[in-house]
Amino acid sequence: MEKSVSLLGSTGSIGRQTLEVVRELGFRVSALTANSSVELLEAQAKEFLPELAVLYDERAAVELQRRLRGLPIRVSAGMEGLMEAASLAAADIVVTAVVGMVGLRPTLAALERGKRVALANKETMVCAGELVMETARRQGGEIIPVDSEHSAIFQCLRGCAGKGEVKRLILTCSGGPFYGRSFEELEGVTPAEALCHPNWSMGAKITVDSATLMNKGLECIEAMGLYEMPPEKISVVIHRQSVVHSLVEYQDGAMLAQLGTANMKLPIRYALTYPERAPSPDPPLDLLTCPPLTFAPPDEAAFPCLTMAIESARTGGTACAALNGANEAAVELFLRGTVGFNDIPRLVEKAVNSVKVKWNPTLTDILEADREARCVVGQGR
Ligand code: NDP
Ligand code: MG
Repeated sequence: MEKSVSLLGSTGSIGRQTLEVVRELGFRVSALTANSSVELLEAQAKEFLPELAVLYDERAAVELQRRLRGLPIRVSAGMEGLMEAASLAAADIVVTAVVGMVGLRPTLAALERGKRVALANKETMVCAGELVMETARRQGGEIIPVDSEHSAIFQCLRGCAGKGEVKRLILTCSGGPFYGRSFEELEGVTPAEALCHPNWSMGAKITVDSATLMNKGLECIEAMGLYEMPPEKISVVIHRQSVVHSLVEYQDGAMLAQLGTANMKLPIRYALTYPERAPSPDPPLDLLTCPPLTFAPPDEAAFPCLTMAIESARTGGTACAALNGANEAAVELFLRGTVGFNDIPRLVEKAVNSVKVKWNPTLTDILEADREARCVVGQGR
């Protein structure tokens, strides 16, 4: 059935791949949003003719409005614009593919209207997992994960009679570009080196997170939220080939895994068409030529971000929002060349230890923990 999609973050890595899938499926587009990429958003808007195009940056939005003059497309800006894009009556599915905590309020707005959210934006689940799940339940909205590990788990849980059947969720992790190095050996690595991911081509922030293994830590927290599992029921294994996208271990010892090529279009397509599966034009995994599959434990001493994230999850309350805010700020400083690679875990640790934890947090408490953590990182660099 033809559906209509509001796509938040349409100019990014996930956003552009989502539009490829939308083209393949013949879906319509209700809204497109980005931060400041005027030219690409203009081209996308002219192709997909959404009713609304949003640039978060006010000045860029004025320029976009000038370029789209004469077309039946409204242009809006700021958080208000993102919220409107997420709430449009015409949108059946909201794809949240913005990077960072900025995706939280629009995601909540979509769920408040009972929509399906195809969620790539992991920072939202990390900061406010309980709030997001509670909103979805209350309003009859649904969250279909796009992150490849969580999509794999979602697929392996189909047919599962209840949470009691699940022994463990096992997230696979490529290990990133610095696999095998010690903490000391990571001291001088540059942004250019951190941006070379061995298996996936992604936006800058998540690529750095994959190099520190914070990405896997954030994904553990995301899995705890999405599948309502305690930290002790989540494990991480290093799997260099990125062929097995994650696994579910059941109580009887059965392990179900989802395998495929390293192509985000599969989880995106699945989130858009679920519970159906649409044919894909992309070549499938060839079992006869794919490399031997290997599995190893993560090196938590070399990559302390992974352990820190799991500890924040154990603490609960606003601890994960503080961890995430600090990480976003520290990664930005690293990408600008202001701090070193190992300063990321140092700054995150400092922020997590400084920001007072609040339990049963409201949205305001979460936004405040995020703000305070960013301040600590800003002062500590
Ligand atoms: P990109 O950096 O490639 O794209 C980010 C998108 O968000 C762009 O459209 C960007 O607009 C927009 N954006 C950035 N800041 C703001 C803001 N303040 N307000 C509004 N829009 C903003 O990121 P990715 O596509 O790689 O990742 C998106 C999300 O998906 C992240 O949360 C990531 O963790 C997750 N994810 C990504 C995967 C991947 O393969 N890339 C895999 C699994 C999860 P502009 O172009 O104008 O800057
Ligand atoms: Mg992932």
